Order: sequence, then structure tokens, then C-alpha cells
Amino acid sequence: MTEQTAKIIDGKATAAALREAVAARVAALKERHGITPGLAVVLVGEDPASQVYVRNKNEQTKQAGMRSFEHRLPADTPEAALLTLVSALNADPAVNGILVQLPLPKHIDSQKVLDAIDPAKDVDGFHPMNAGRLATGGNALVPCTPLGCLILLKRELGALAGRKAIVIGRSNIVGKPMAQLLLRESCTVVLAHSKTRDLPGECRQADIVVAAVGQPELVKGDWIKPGATVIDVGINRVPGAEPGKTRLVGDADFKSCAAVAGAITPVPGGVGPMTIAVLLRNALEACCRQHGLPFEEVF
Ligand code: NAD
Repeated sequence: MTEQTAKIIDGKATAAALREAVAARVAALKERHGITPGLAVVLVGEDPASQVYVRNKNEQTKQAGMRSFEHRLPADTPEAALLTLVSALNADPAVNGILVQLPLPKHIDSQKVLDAIDPAKDVDGFHPMNAGRLATGGNALVPCTPLGCLILLKRELGALAGRKAIVIGRSNIVGKPMAQLLLRESCTVVLAHSKTRDLPGECRQADIVVAAVGQPELVKGDWIKPGATVIDVGINRVPGAEPGKTRLVGDADFKSCAAVAGAITPVPGGVGPMTIAVLLRNALEACCRQHGLPFEEVF
């Protein structure tokens, strides 16, 4: 059976709705408290993919009614100069969120830079303080991509308590925080990785499969329990049908998985668009908390 029966989870539409909801909150914050959230994005070097991300982040920040502070530094910027900029942004009251675009050039210690960001302004949620708070049940700023996945899952399935979930991939930016978030929702979580034995068998037991592996179309339809929900985080560029052309595929084999799953995110148009929308949500949360204002979940 190869016919698509799964519902397609529309991340593009959900991301647009989230951005609109954030913009409405930002407008209310301005009107009631005279506060405009500010987000600083730092880009070091000229990586083409990073340039596109940073441009999109700046545009969407402004569209949400926030102030956007863009810092573009040359690829040979010394680590000390980047750390000085981070300190200045930490001290600037107009800046509520700081994002240093990864990857950084090889001569810079990325962890050292991420550790230097004020945890209260760490809208990427990569600071060990925020990772620790997420793991121990505190008020954490949560990495954008896994939080975007969770939003899609909750909108699709409602309460997640008691469901069996597998997260494939244990990176600090996607897999581990994803597993923590699902645990926080009272799922029974398996965190799989490259050394996991019988990955297909582990997958077949799961009601929720989150694939964050970086391996094109690794997860096959016969790994999926009928009716399960598949969240595909992967973004892999592979050769296209025509010579010289490429196309994007996820970490799940869409065709075979969509014939078995109950619902699935497409690539592109699934998890990808959620990431920047959640970044704006996180900037709003950081701003509210810095001003001692309550932050209610946007949706
Ligand atoms: P990563 O390379 O840091 O981690 C990959 C993980 O997958 C590792 O923990 C590894 O153990 C595991 N793995 C590798 N091969 C495996 C296999 N054969 N079986 C089981 N596990 C295996 O990657 P990442 O940064 O977590 O990103 C994962 C994917 O998500 C990539 O395709 C990336 O492009 C994509 N991504 C998308 C977004 C988005 O906004 N949609 C954001 C971040 C990452």
C-alpha cells in the first residue's frame, strides 16, 4: 500500500498563525506598557544559508512589531571581539533577546560564545542554564525547533500524556530538548541515536515519531505504527530528477510513511517554518520576564 492516507500537518499555516498571535501580543505590550521587544541577531562570516536565515529572521522580527538589531561581522573576527559584542548586548536594555547564528567560523569556540549570552536573553535556549532548567522543570527558554515540533504535536493530538514517543537524534539543539519537552508532557520517551539497536523495532512501538537525524529518508513506512504521528525535522538537499537540480527531503521517507501514519509533517512546509515563529515567541517571553510581566502561552 503506497497511497497517502495521513493528514498533512501544515507547519506553514501554523507558523503564520503563531507569528500573528505574537504580533498581537507585541502590540498590546506597546500600548499598555510602552515596551517594544528587541531581538539582536549576530552573524559572523558569509555562509550563504546563514545569510538567508538571518535576513528572514530580521524581516519577520520587524513584521511582528519588534525591534531588530542586526550585527554582521567579518569571518576573521577574533573570538574576543565577538565576546565583547555579546557583553554589550547583554548590558543593553533595548535588547531582550540575543541570537548568535551558528555555525561560527572554526577559530571561534561556539560553546564559549553561547555560554557568554545572558540566560535571560538566550532566545535560542542553548545556554546550559536553560538546558538545565528545561531538564529540571524550571522556567526555561526552550530551543526553537523542538518547541515548534511540540506546538505542532499538541495542536494535532491535544494532550500528549501517556503516549509513547521516540525521538531519533540526540543533538543538543533538537533531539535532547525534544525528548525533554515530550517528557514534560508526560509521554513515555525513547531517545534513539546512531548506536540504537533495532531502530525500526523501537519506532514501530511509538505513537509519536520525531526524526531529527540528518539522514535523507531514513525512516520508512514499515517502521511506523499505523495511525502514528510523524514529525520530520530533517532538511536534506539531495539530487533532483533533472541533472544539476536539487530538492529538499526530510529524514522520513514521505511517501511510504504517509501511507501508514495518521498525520505527518511535509518537508518543506512542516517543521521548518515553525522555527522562526517560535524564535519570535521566545523573544516576547524573554521581554515579558525581563520586565517582570506575566507571560501567558501564545497558543
Ligand atoms: P546532528 O548531526 O547534530 O545530530 C544528528 C543525530 O542523529 C545524532 O545524535 C546521531 O546520533 C543521530 N543519528 C545519525 N545517524 C543515525 C542513524 N542512522 N540512526 C539513528 N540516529 C542517527 O543534527 P541536528 O542538528 O540535530 O539536525 C538533525 C536534522 O534536523 C538535520 O537534517 C538538520 O538539517 C535538521 N534541522 C532542521 C531544523 C529546522 O528548522 N527544521 C533545525 C535544526 C536542524
